[in-house]
Parts: sequence; structure tokens; C-alpha cells
Amino acid sequence: MKGDDRSARCGRIKSQWKSVQEMNYLDSITLTKTLPCLAEPGRIIVIGKPSQPLTDIIPYLATLPDVIVYNPITCTVTFRRQHGFMTLYTDKVYITKVKDVEEGLELFKALVDAVNATWAHRAELVAVTAARSAPRLLDIWALLPQTNCKQCGESTCMAFAAALLQQKRSLTECLALSADPSFGERRATLEAML
Ligand code: SF4
Repeated sequence: MKGDDRSARCGRIKSQWKSVQEMNYLDSITLTKTLPCLAEPGRIIVIGKPSQPLTDIIPYLATLPDVIVYNPITCTVTFRRQHGFMTLYTDKVYITKVKDVEEGLELFKALVDAVNATWAHRAELVAVTAARSAPRLLDIWALLPQTNCKQCGESTCMAFAAALLQQKRSLTECLALSADPSFGERRATLEAML
């Protein structure tokens, strides 16, 4: 191969690589499931599947404000929303206290935009490698079943949340949380927070 051909080929490869780097990280998040949001009757939880695993972007998303818990080992991050929470796993997205499916789809679209904007600016960010956890009483309470069933021995879920924060009680003592599979995501988030 002549020198000019080699350099042209090299230029093409460089420009293809640059365009790959500049490509959007995500095309879409597809709604896979909805659940009733027990924390706020009438609202729903939406669960979505991203068009590609979020493994590479989550450490950059963990730099954003409103992160309440980030676990680099399991590669999960939870954000506080105005209402409820949003948790990103490598293979799914989980948003609580959503008004309806339509709002859920809008939230997924906004998240795709936020992911792509973060990916485009990743060179200016420092990926987070350390765990981050700053739970507040209300954050913990919001993830508990909020039925005040008293099975844990506390008179309210808020009292149990306070005891958890002070490490006087363990999450397994909330029988409702352990027994009901629909609380699985919340339990996992609480375990990461505490
Ligand atoms: S067992 Fe769970 S749901 Fe029942 S009061 Fe205690 S914290 Fe709330």
C-alpha cells in the first residue's frame, strides 16, 4: 500500500472512531412494566429497559446533583425526584410516584436526553468510583411500605425509618418489606442506602 493510501485509510478510521465516540449513548428506554405505587395510591411505578446497558454511563451520572445513593460495585444509582425516586441499574430503570404511563414515557425520554448529554460531556467529568450514600429520614420513609402496620414493633413507618437511620433496627425487621415481592426494588435501594 502506498504512503498516500495508508494515510487516507488512517484518516478514515480516525474519523469513523470519532463519530462512534460522538454517537448517542442511548436510543431509547422501553417501558416493560408498571406497578401500583403503594407509597402514593393512584400513582404508578414505571420500569423500563434501556437500549444498551448503562454500565459505562452510570459512573458519570453519579456526578450529577440529587444523587442519594451510588454503589459502584453493583453499578446502581438512585436520584431524588421532586416526587419519588429514580433508580438506574445496568439493565433497567425504575421510577416511582409517576402520574400515569404517559408521564412515565416522558420521563424515560427526558432521561435518554440526560444520559446522552452526560455522555457527550464525559471528558469534562470525573467518573465517580467511590460509594455515595446520604440518606435522609424522609428518603428512607418514602421507600418503606408506609402502611403503619406495626409488625416491626414501631408504631409508624416513620418511627421505624428513624430507628434504621440510627442503626437501632434492621431492614429485615420490616416484615411487610421482606414478604411482598413487589417491594423488591425498594428493598434493594434501601439496602444500598443503609
Ligand atoms: S413493619 Fe414495615 S410497614 Fe409495618 S410499620 Fe413497620 S416499617 Fe411500616
